[in-house]
Amino acid sequence: MEHPSIRFYIHALLLLLTAAVASCAEDPQVYITETGKKYHLDGCRYLERSRIPIRLSTASSLGYDPCGHCNPPPIPPEITRPERDPGLYRLNVVGLEHPKEADLTEMTPAVVVRHVDGDTVYVAIPRPPTGVKSYESVRFIGVDTPETVHPQKIVERFGKEASTFTRDHLLNQLVFLAFDWQLRDRYDRLLAYVYLADGSCFNAVLVRDGYAHAYTRFPFQFLEEFRALERTAREQGNGLWGPEKP
Ligand SMILES: [Zn+2]
Repeated sequence: MEHPSIRFYIHALLLLLTAAVASCAEDPQVYITETGKKYHLDGCRYLERSRIPIRLSTASSLGYDPCGHCNPPPIPPEITRPERDPGLYRLNVVGLEHPKEADLTEMTPAVVVRHVDGDTVYVAIPRPPTGVKSYESVRFIGVDTPETVHPQKIVERFGKEASTFTRDHLLNQLVFLAFDWQLRDRYDRLLAYVYLADGSCFNAVLVRDGYAHAYTRFPFQFLEEFRALERTAREQGNGLWGPEKP
């Protein structure tokens, strides 16, 4: 059997190459909207309600099509388009022990188009797998960031920092979604692990850096791992575990 990390490294290399191409003029910036399935040139009338910058190669590889009104550059011929229904990558089924073992090529690629708070964002998925819509609210699995609605409570004082951290790292970014045994919560939000293009699991980063508690009320694949990350964050005084500000 092929070792999963080999596929991971090949994929990481491909992503680096994509990023290198993206820095060239041949990969211009185009724009998408929160719910649409086309990419546009700046100034297109379809961008009035939302306007999310994205590289042409990323928009093309996610499955966006060129707008027929503003005629943006065509899909580059070397781009691989996503399958119609690639299915869901469920980490509990794969049985991974560590978040870093996950395979980005099996995940659902998406763009973060709106930020809500430290542990919730909205994503656009132009070609979603069965059971997933093309515009979804995503709640991160296994983490709980402090609420921002009651900032007067001491325990919640770190909510604003967590929210800003998530916005700065994820907004308008290409991400890869993986799932667990439960696809949705009672608010119909998609429950997901959010991976960045460098292979890091953002859920784990939030706990490690002290922006979130490990949320262990419900089981999930990395429960023990996240508990250990929280213990370390607490010992090191990271983020919300640090000394209280005056
Ligand atoms: Zn357009």
